[in-house]
Amino acid sequence: MNSNIFLPGFEDVTVTLMEEVEEKLCIHVERSVEPHTCPVCHTVTQKIHDYRIQKIKHLKMFERQTLLFYRKRRYVCPCGKRFAEENTFVERYQRLSVELNQAIKIRSIKGKTFKEISEVYGTSASTVVRRFDQLAENTVNEEAKELPKVIAIDEYKGDTKEGKYQLIIANGMTKEPIDILPNRYKNTIKHYLKKYGAQVEVVVMDMSPSFKAAVQQALGKPVIVADRFHFVRSMYWALDGVRRRIQSNWHDYDRKKCKKMRYVFYKRSNKLTEDDKWYLQRYLDLSPVLRKAYELKELFCRWFDKAKQNGEEHILQTKNALYRFYEEVDKEGIPEFTKAAQTLKNWQIEILNSFSNNFSNGFLEGINNLTKVIKRNAFGFRSFQRFRAKILLTHKYKRLGSHIG
Ligand SMILES: [Zn+2]
Repeated sequence: MNSNIFLPGFEDVTVTLMEEVEEKLCIHVERSVEPHTCPVCHTVTQKIHDYRIQKIKHLKMFERQTLLFYRKRRYVCPCGKRFAEENTFVERYQRLSVELNQAIKIRSIKGKTFKEISEVYGTSASTVVRRFDQLAENTVNEEAKELPKVIAIDEYKGDTKEGKYQLIIANGMTKEPIDILPNRYKNTIKHYLKKYGAQVEVVVMDMSPSFKAAVQQALGKPVIVADRFHFVRSMYWALDGVRRRIQSNWHDYDRKKCKKMRYVFYKRSNKLTEDDKWYLQRYLDLSPVLRKAYELKELFCRWFDKAKQNGEEHILQTKNALYRFYEEVDKEGIPEFTKAAQTLKNWQIEILNSFSNNFSNGFLEGINNLTKVIKRNAFGFRSFQRFRAKILLTHKYKRLGSHIG
């Protein structure tokens, strides 16, 4: 019956019966008799010893939980050895089919929680966790043995047992995440880079003194590139600090409205609408200090745009323009900007490096966003190792369809 039915994954068996029992689809399968080689004496035999029915959980079919009833044949060799026939859909001592195990593995990466996945597949959460851990062990731990020439590092707030912040390390060229360190302490980073970083020539990072110290101590003299996003942001933060300080002395109405309209200070001036411009002018008219702070931010943005155009070829011009920016900051004596400019000075080489090559950390933002989603879905990831595996595997299997299983 149904012997010529085609089911993917069942190419090498005969389906002898399909029936529905208590809303479950039961598929009875067996293989045809074929010559088998004895595992002990290597004699080829076709002599059947007996049959056993093995019940195997399989992928859902037609929206029903599916069970395979595999009539497993055992052969007997003239030497006396009895052994089971070969098959491709269930491994020894398994109660789940190869395809189901595979689907659970993929889903354990893509799905939200282990529990939810276990419900979908009609199996226990601990089975899903075990599959996930197997996959993690096989694919994650073997990676990152040797870091590439260009790496980008950044931190994110993961709140695992091992630390509040974790450090993500990515390939600066391919933008693939490579590893996640349990915390951002200098010694953790240093130890890791010493171990795996012999090939590293360029490191992209935000302006964190402890990252810089760790990299320099572990790798000698790599080219450190300050991430553009971070040093540009430092100027916006300086302006924001001034705005908050100034508006705190204003009347209720203007203070609240200015807070609400604060985006007008940060928008690129060519993107401002007529309304935006009106508000910007109003607030700048209310405070000469705020106006100066705004002008400094604009000056920095113009310097930044020009620096990008200049590239490596005119890096000296970029450097000189940066000195002029410092002078302007000094002249105004606005504490928020004086402090921010000091940070730029401390990182001047690394900032200029970012214009003589095109590496940046920007893409890590995307990785970190994904990480936040994973964290939000909880996943029982108080365990750092599992959390790390989940993030790395999610990226690894990003392009794999989520329709599997
Ligand atoms: Zn034998």
